[in-house]
Amino acid sequence: MKNRFSIRAIPLFLLLAAGSPAHAEWVRRVTDGIMGTRITVELWSDDREKADQAIDAVLDEMRHVDETMSTYKPTSEVSLVNAGAAAGPMHITKELFDLLTTAKEYSVITDGAFDITYASVGYMYDFRKHIRPNETQIDKALPAVDYRHLLLDPKKQTVRFSQTGVRIDLGGIAKGYSVDRGIDVLKARGITRAYVSAGGDSRIIGDRFGKPWMVGIRDPRKEAGEVITRIPLVDAAISTSGDYERYFEEDGVRYHHIIDPRTGHSASKVRSATIIGPYAIRTDGLSKTAFVLGPEEAMKIYNQLDDIDAIIVKLDGTVIYSKGLERAR
Ligand code: ADP
Ligand code: MG
Repeated sequence: MKNRFSIRAIPLFLLLAAGSPAHAEWVRRVTDGIMGTRITVELWSDDREKADQAIDAVLDEMRHVDETMSTYKPTSEVSLVNAGAAAGPMHITKELFDLLTTAKEYSVITDGAFDITYASVGYMYDFRKHIRPNETQIDKALPAVDYRHLLLDPKKQTVRFSQTGVRIDLGGIAKGYSVDRGIDVLKARGITRAYVSAGGDSRIIGDRFGKPWMVGIRDPRKEAGEVITRIPLVDAAISTSGDYERYFEEDGVRYHHIIDPRTGHSASKVRSATIIGPYAIRTDGLSKTAFVLGPEEAMKIYNQLDDIDAIIVKLDGTVIYSKGLERAR
């Protein structure tokens, strides 16, 4: 068309105006279905198109983590390890090798409360379908639960299970890890103010222009949205584990998705634990400990870690805080 004010030209003109770099704003997107949870990404950007591309890249990275780590997917690298590592050493990607190494570190730090071999018993639970193993099944499978059964060879980058029956599941760190990967993706694109969360695991970079981000901690026995407190955060990660997340009740007993590696039963010594630290993989990994060890013993461990703070809601509903937060209150 010769006329430059043709009908086709108008939408193009509007599009350019909408993407004008002079206009900076908070861009937020909420996506359901990756890793079976809700992903939220919020960032500050002066270019809407670049912001959308950055969020797409974060979600792609999270899909990759899901494809690699999910035990629900028979073709995931973790599923292949579960199927083959008892027979002999298996070469794995550096990404998975590093995650398994980190997982073992967390087992040592938490006195065995965090243990990805929980899945040797854990695979028999299905919290959505209200299915749990009986005592005979638990007794039979329990000897396979021990992070020491996981043999890692850093030179060859291989993993082996020391006995049959061992299974691993990275559900206790995968979401936190994916949040950290998401933050890495944003940083690589020059973004300096952002919030990324996957279910109960979140991480923040930067502030909100002189103000901190305010992150609410849910009250475990009230509706989502009702909080026990709000924590101001800048450049930090925060994870909450709660007994209200994935559970069913039978004869007055609450069965939920954190398993005590020593007994194979649902670990119920607190209602919720919130951990604050530098990385979401670390806060995610540590949030399970309070359920297994109980509030006092877990708080002792949290207080020994210089980069960690914690808020625990005990079974009677009272709330206890780590040393660092007690000082700040
Ligand atoms: P979410 O999965 O909603 O982030 P949590 O962070 O509380 O919830 O993690 C719970 C998950 O951790 C379980 O679904 C399971 O995959 C895994 N898990 C359960 N018990 C243990 C344990 N003792 N050690 C390590 N991981 C565990
Ligand atoms: Mg988590």
